[in-house]
Amino acid sequence: MKGYRDMTREELLAQRQELNERYEKYKALNLTLDMTRGKPSPLQLDLSNDIYDVLNGDFKTAKGQDTRNYGIAEGIEEIRAVFGEILGTDKDNVFMGNSSSLNQMYDAIMRAMVFGEVDSPKPWAQVEGRKWLCPTPGYDRHFRVTETLGFELIPVPITEDGPDMDIVEELVKDEKVKGIWCVPCYSNPDGIVYSEETCDRLARMETAASDFRIFWDNAYVVHHLSEDRNEWGKLPDMLSLCESYGHANRVYEFASSSKITFAGGGISCFACNKDNMTYAKKYLNAQTICTNKVNQLAHARFLPNAEAVYQHMMKHAAILRPKFEECQKVLNEELGFDDLWHWTNPKGGYFVSFYAMPGTATKIVSMCKEAGVALTPAGASYPYGKDPQDSNIRLAPSFPVIEDIEKAVRILTICAKITAVDKLLEDL
Ligand code: PLP
Repeated sequence: MKGYRDMTREELLAQRQELNERYEKYKALNLTLDMTRGKPSPLQLDLSNDIYDVLNGDFKTAKGQDTRNYGIAEGIEEIRAVFGEILGTDKDNVFMGNSSSLNQMYDAIMRAMVFGEVDSPKPWAQVEGRKWLCPTPGYDRHFRVTETLGFELIPVPITEDGPDMDIVEELVKDEKVKGIWCVPCYSNPDGIVYSEETCDRLARMETAASDFRIFWDNAYVVHHLSEDRNEWGKLPDMLSLCESYGHANRVYEFASSSKITFAGGGISCFACNKDNMTYAKKYLNAQTICTNKVNQLAHARFLPNAEAVYQHMMKHAAILRPKFEECQKVLNEELGFDDLWHWTNPKGGYFVSFYAMPGTATKIVSMCKEAGVALTPAGASYPYGKDPQDSNIRLAPSFPVIEDIEKAVRILTICAKITAVDKLLEDL
């Protein structure tokens, strides 16, 4: 089939009619399908159902510490070792928290807001016009954290290699720019793995702010879709890399077990160098006595080392892969004939990022809603919820069953085609 731009008005009108019939047929089914958030499916959650059996009435760590009681503020050693191994850093650089890494990111910025960082001239709350770099499209909740805390969000386009570093290097010459969000492995939503050069430039660049921070959110560090380990996204140890350029304080790294064991019921951590850790602990110790170490022990027994985590993640991958493949299949079948749109085919993470014909994403999302398909609002992956191109739609195939993915993506493609045809007809 030829592309829409090569069609005559009559041909486009004929397409429009056929597509409309298909759309109305789906609408008549009164579907309720949800492709909004990247949640693990019940089958994935079931993979960790035995996690508490491993405690078996024994709540002591290898060192004999009682996890049921107060103490061990930084978290038990065995789970810090597992996360250290996954992140490629020493366990002593790891601080375990409760279930949410996003919570830890928020707290970390709040500490800087109120007290400043270890190398801050003044607390960030006192910096008028403070700014934060947002590789875009990105994770909406990241953007909401920095927006809520009064930062101006500065979009930075993301390329196949990560944030556009020429632009980042320019922007950090402004001392009001205090940090950058990074999801370096299978970025949300584009599934990009940062290149070695991008990591190197982030670690090496000179910043006007002495207290500039990289928030290195390694949420998908072990969330590969392929069995083939050569295809897994690989990253340098960002802590050492920053240190090697004399910027040891520059990075906070985050991770959690939300999409390894239980979302909202798992454990999370941050990792940083010694100076940042000592400084953060001063305030963390005022905030809490300790976190949930019973859950940490359950995780450490259930997944005692990185290899156990990798094997567990391959069980997730076996469930997720067919869902991602179904997305690709329908997108290719319906839209492969034209280049008015494109989409990602990630090797890991939780999303497929769909780029519709510019100017049509909002309309597509509302048409899908009318046909019973809930999608993340168009623009959600952009600072302030505004996609200047009105093109990107984030698809989250993890939660629905395959039959629902088929229908939801099919409806999306029909809406994408209808809006494209309408736009082309308008312009004729
Ligand atoms: N970071 C990214 C990039 C995410 O996509 C998500 C969830 O979708 C989170 C963090 C949330 O992590 P947590 O459950 O540990 O708060």
